[in-house]
Amino acid sequence: MNNTKYLFVVGGVMSSVGKGIASASIGKILQSRGFSVSIIKCDMYVNIDAGTMRPTEHGEVFVGDDGIEADQDLGTYERFVDQISTRNHYITTGQVYQEVIRRERNLEYKGEDVEVVPDIPNEILRRINLVVKKEKSDFVIVEIGGTVGEYQNVLFLEAARMMKFKHKNDVLFVLVSYLPIPPMVGEMKSKPTQYAARTLNSAGIQADFIICRSERSLDHKRRDKIATFCNVNAENAISAPDVSSVYDVPVNFIKEKLDEKILKAFGIKPKSRDMKEWRALAKKIKRLKREVKIAVVGKYFGTGDFELADSYISVIEAAKHAAWGQNVKPNFTWVDSEEYEKDPKKVKELSAFDGVIVPGGFGTRGIEGIISAIKHVRTNTIPYLGLCYGMQLATIEFARNVAKIKGATSTEQNPEAKHQVIHIMPDQEKKLLAKDYGASMRLGSWPCKLKKGTKAQKAYAKSRVDERHRHRYEFNNAYRKRLEASGLVVSGVSPDNHIVEIIELPKHPFFVGVQFHPEFKSRPHKPHPLFKEFVRASLKKRK
Ligand code: GLN
Repeated sequence: MNNTKYLFVVGGVMSSVGKGIASASIGKILQSRGFSVSIIKCDMYVNIDAGTMRPTEHGEVFVGDDGIEADQDLGTYERFVDQISTRNHYITTGQVYQEVIRRERNLEYKGEDVEVVPDIPNEILRRINLVVKKEKSDFVIVEIGGTVGEYQNVLFLEAARMMKFKHKNDVLFVLVSYLPIPPMVGEMKSKPTQYAARTLNSAGIQADFIICRSERSLDHKRRDKIATFCNVNAENAISAPDVSSVYDVPVNFIKEKLDEKILKAFGIKPKSRDMKEWRALAKKIKRLKREVKIAVVGKYFGTGDFELADSYISVIEAAKHAAWGQNVKPNFTWVDSEEYEKDPKKVKELSAFDGVIVPGGFGTRGIEGIISAIKHVRTNTIPYLGLCYGMQLATIEFARNVAKIKGATSTEQNPEAKHQVIHIMPDQEKKLLAKDYGASMRLGSWPCKLKKGTKAQKAYAKSRVDERHRHRYEFNNAYRKRLEASGLVVSGVSPDNHIVEIIELPKHPFFVGVQFHPEFKSRPHKPHPLFKEFVRASLKKRK
């Protein structure tokens, strides 16, 4: 291919229509036809990155190898196209303005006025070009966050329009829209999508494809309406009904021939066809009957009256991958740990599960509830996987109840406490004093040495691994000997032996806590070894 081809993906009607999954799936189907792809997310927030956002507001903070704290969509991209996302793949309004203002202060605009247009869109385009130059992919898919018609993403749309103006034949627009079926009407309505397409027109952009998200498939009548009123070819209105698994989406796109239609619109011939493995998985998922019952005990579930599992999306996906690998389907129950604080007896309900996961977290709310949950799974030999905070809290529980260190806690819980078995990392202390909170945790990929013969080492079947991190606190080495003497096994450490990365209990069927986030590296066809062993142990408990 001579020129890079660009696909801008924008959302219409409402948020959460699935732009991220659509962008990742487009990447997947183009890959399946023999092309290389890069996927970029533009987030309209003034935040420099997602690191300072509350998970109940914005969903999970996804961490890359390079330490970028990004929107959860980057995780979806990684799982679908199996490529590592970097900080170049995540652009926010904050980053763009920060760079323009930095350049202005350095006189790099040479006395010119610095203006919102075109200087802001130009900086957006410069960032997209960084990825183009570096990766030289055939296709660059750019997902623009937010919904068409809101104020916040107009400068990203303007950048996209400028790109189209410059490279007429190399840019296509995909509108991911929603067609509601109001229960009192009982009919699929296309008007909101028509408005969305027109609003996009007012930004100077004509959609080439409209992905019609709805409860059901698009019928002829609606397809014609979309074509006539939104100005797209009828065949480019793509039916995208709700699916039971997101991994069905690429398969459905291929059924709709979206791959061929995109290639045709660019005048490109497909090179190959390779979706066998993916199709097989999508099919298998539907056929699985046997379940593994997993409780996720956390604290980031609620938004108003609604429960949201988005805060733990990678954890959930990783558990799914592992379960599918064992030919079972996961059945998740979300447990808000504060319930165990209100009613301590309720913790017994955990005995009904095959396994329990405690994912990452911050702060003090709900923590004692999590610690009592951990005590219950430890003493009742229920398989346990603790991720980051889940490892730290397991250490605290063990210190209190097995090593009998009264009042053991972490600095995060009580900085005045006598026994801080989890304490602040030395370099983190200075950062907190200086109120340097942004992108300042121990982030990204770090190596971990595994102790031979431990459960963790056997799971990985390696002696050294690299995993992604995001934390400020760590296992306090002053307590290492004492906890080890009580039966805790430190099965993974940083190569200098200073940072405890993995703990486990050898007598328990599966009790493993990790300071890192293995969930980020799990793939649908390559379940993460620790999740795999956790699910295996959970299935054994079931028997
Ligand atoms: N709050 C803990 C820390 O900062 C754990 C962080 C996490 O779970 N990601 O170390």
